[in-house]
Amino acid sequence: MITHSSYDVVIIGAGVAGLAAAQRLQEAGLNPLVLEARDRLGGRIWSDYNLTAPVELGAEFIHGEHAATWQLLAQAGLTAEPWPREVANFKEKFRRYAQADKLLPADTVLAEQVLQLYEQVEHYNGPEISVEALVQQLTQPDDPARFYVLSRFACVEAAEVNRLSAKSMAEERRQNSAGGQNFHMPTGYSTLPQFMAQYLTIEYHVAVQQIVWHDHGATLHLSNEHTIDTHQVIITVPLSLLQADIPHFEPALPAAKQQAIHALAMGQVTKLAFWFSHVCWPSFSFVNTDGLVLAWWAGGSPTQPVLMGYVGGPQALELAALGQTGAVAQGLTELTQLFGAEIETAFIKGQMVDWSSDPWSRGAYSYTPLGAGQARVELAAPVANTLFFAGEATSVNGHVGTVHGAIESGWRAAAAVLTGRQS
Ligand SMILES: Cc1cc2nc3c(=O)[nH]c(=O)nc-3n(C[C@H](O)[C@H](O)[C@H](O)COP(=O)(O)OP(=O)(O)OC[C@H]3O[C@@H](n4cnc5c(N)ncnc54)[C@H](O)[C@@H]3O)c2cc1C
Repeated sequence: MITHSSYDVVIIGAGVAGLAAAQRLQEAGLNPLVLEARDRLGGRIWSDYNLTAPVELGAEFIHGEHAATWQLLAQAGLTAEPWPREVANFKEKFRRYAQADKLLPADTVLAEQVLQLYEQVEHYNGPEISVEALVQQLTQPDDPARFYVLSRFACVEAAEVNRLSAKSMAEERRQNSAGGQNFHMPTGYSTLPQFMAQYLTIEYHVAVQQIVWHDHGATLHLSNEHTIDTHQVIITVPLSLLQADIPHFEPALPAAKQQAIHALAMGQVTKLAFWFSHVCWPSFSFVNTDGLVLAWWAGGSPTQPVLMGYVGGPQALELAALGQTGAVAQGLTELTQLFGAEIETAFIKGQMVDWSSDPWSRGAYSYTPLGAGQARVELAAPVANTLFFAGEATSVNGHVGTVHGAIESGWRAAAAVLTGRQS
């Protein structure tokens, strides 16, 4: 139990950004303290191990063969396999579409139309415009590709497409150096934060409520009514928490930092996990639908098949509003329409994960709305030699909204802390 105590560096949050920062500081000979509001590690990485195969309730994939995550996997002796197993490198070819509850043939002309339009928007290089307005400019109102392209961006970016900046989104994709292949960790994503945390000092169930700071240090006020004095703080709480003034800063953060916090947006995702006794669907990478559940993919293992449902953007809130039982029933109905009645007999159980109502994430990941192109640089900047900011939203190299972007941000904040200590 913490009483009033003193640390050189305190890190707020035991997600991968906080753990990456803490690891680096420990390697440099410091003894950082990590404070975590939840009773578990990993933040938006959260693997479920209730049945035999791990199932990802939060982050699912390592996005890219060059992602920083691989450095940690190598240190940990952990592996990741190309996903989807059967169709590595050909995921677009194995993407399927469903319209009005019916799975369309694999070679539907719609698939090619959607891909072309999606890539056109991805490569946009023009003045500020929303993704929705750009897609409307590029298509006729009756173009069926329109809906699927917009819903794919809503899912991938977790965004409201009428706010999502096409210019910033395309720029972030051009900067992205992680690569295009997806990978899945057979041991579950959570084994990564478990490895990162193994030699660190972490206090769970402790929320930082207030940071009283000055140019040479800070006092943290905790939910357990204790306080901690520290020279430097690394803040890794999600953007949505900063927007809600959690933790509260005294004095207030500089105006430019506050503007950056409010210029960016936290996106919404609701995820479904459905466990089955056996596979009773055709092989595919993703199925994109025009139902309430916008995308499906196969997770689990060959012996423990699982289908994951994914809804990003405003529709995520619609699915979540059905509640746990209603959302699972909705997902099962849509799956039965897509794949037939055998789905119902093979069904073991389902779970809905509503990231928007999780008090410690209040959303899924950040996106860049119209006019917020420079905000991440400002968000990432330290304040005095006291407050350092990390977390996926502070990524400035196109790796926003990802695990590897969060890891890199933790490394960046740790380096800045170490530089600050020399001055
Ligand atoms: C549904 C979903 C799917 C995703 N899919 C992928 C994917 O496939 N691939 C990918 O690369 N990324 C994916 N992501 C994004 C990825 O999970 C995040 O970018 C990354 O995990 C963020 O790490 P972080 O350390 O920045 O934040 P977090 O993991 O959110 O860590 C912040 C920590 O701070 C704690 N905290 C908050 N407030 C306080 C407080 N006041 N005091 C103390 N502690 C506090 C939180 O409990 C949390 O543990 C997904 C995210 C979601 C939600």
